[in-house]
Amino acid sequence: MKVGLFGGTFNPIHLGHLRSAEEVCAAFTLDRIYFIPSASPPHKRTMDIAPAHHRYNMVERAVAANPAFFASRIELDRTGPSFSIDTIRAFRARGTLTSLAFLIGMDAFREIETWKDYLEIPSLCDLIVTSRPGVPTPSLDQLLPVALRSAFWYDPTQQRYQHESGHTLTLYTLNGLHISASGIRDNLRAGRPTPCQLPPAVADYIAAHALYRIQKASSLEG
Ligand code: ATP
Repeated sequence: MKVGLFGGTFNPIHLGHLRSAEEVCAAFTLDRIYFIPSASPPHKRTMDIAPAHHRYNMVERAVAANPAFFASRIELDRTGPSFSIDTIRAFRARGTLTSLAFLIGMDAFREIETWKDYLEIPSLCDLIVTSRPGVPTPSLDQLLPVALRSAFWYDPTQQRYQHESGHTLTLYTLNGLHISASGIRDNLRAGRPTPCQLPPAVADYIAAHALYRIQKASSLEG
C-alpha cells in the first residue's frame, strides 16, 4: 500500500488542504492519505489554536467524502509536543506499507531545520513538498538546510531529488486553491461568509461549537 501522511495544525481544515491532498493523491498514485492534526504543534504560537479534539473532529468530517482519505488520531493519542519524526516512525513500524510519503507545504518545509531529528526524516520516507499557487519554485539549495544538501542529488530523468537512503524528494506545484486557515479565522471573527473556503460539514461544526469567535489566551487543552 502506498501511503501519504499529511500533517498540519488544521485550524481549521479547509478546501485548500483537501484540494492539495487530492492533487497529490492522483499525481503520486497514493492509495491512502492520513490527515494528522497536530495535538500540540511545537512550531505554532499557542494563541488562537482550537482545542485538538475539535480540530480532529473537523478533519474527520472533512475527509469523510473521499474514500482514500483518513483522519488519524496518532498525535492526539501521544503526550508531549507533536513531532513529525515520531509519527513517521510509528507509521513505518506498522509494516504494511510499500511506500510512505510525507506531504508538506513549502512554507512549512522551509523550517525543517528546526524540527526534531530532521536529518533522519528523508531516511524514513519520501518527501512531497507542495508549493502553493503563485509561489516561485526555489532551487534545492535555497530550500534545503546545509546539513541535508550533500545527502541529495538531482535525478533529471525522474525530475526529483534522490536521497542517499533511496528515498526521494519531489517539488510539486499545485494548481491549488488560494485559501489559508488564518484568513478563514479572520473571516469567521468578522462574521464574513466562508462558503467557498470550508467544507459545509466543517462550517457547521465551527458554528455549532462557536469556534474562532474570540481570541483566547491559550486553548490547547479541553
Ligand atoms: P495558517 O494559515 O493558520 O498558518 P496553514 O493552513 O498554513 O494555517 P496547517 O494547517 O499547519 O497551516 O497546514 C498544513 C499543511 O497544509 C502545511 O504543510 C501547509 O503548507 C499546507 N497548506 C496550507 N494551506 C494550503 C493551501 N491553500 N493549499 C495547499 N497547501 C496548503
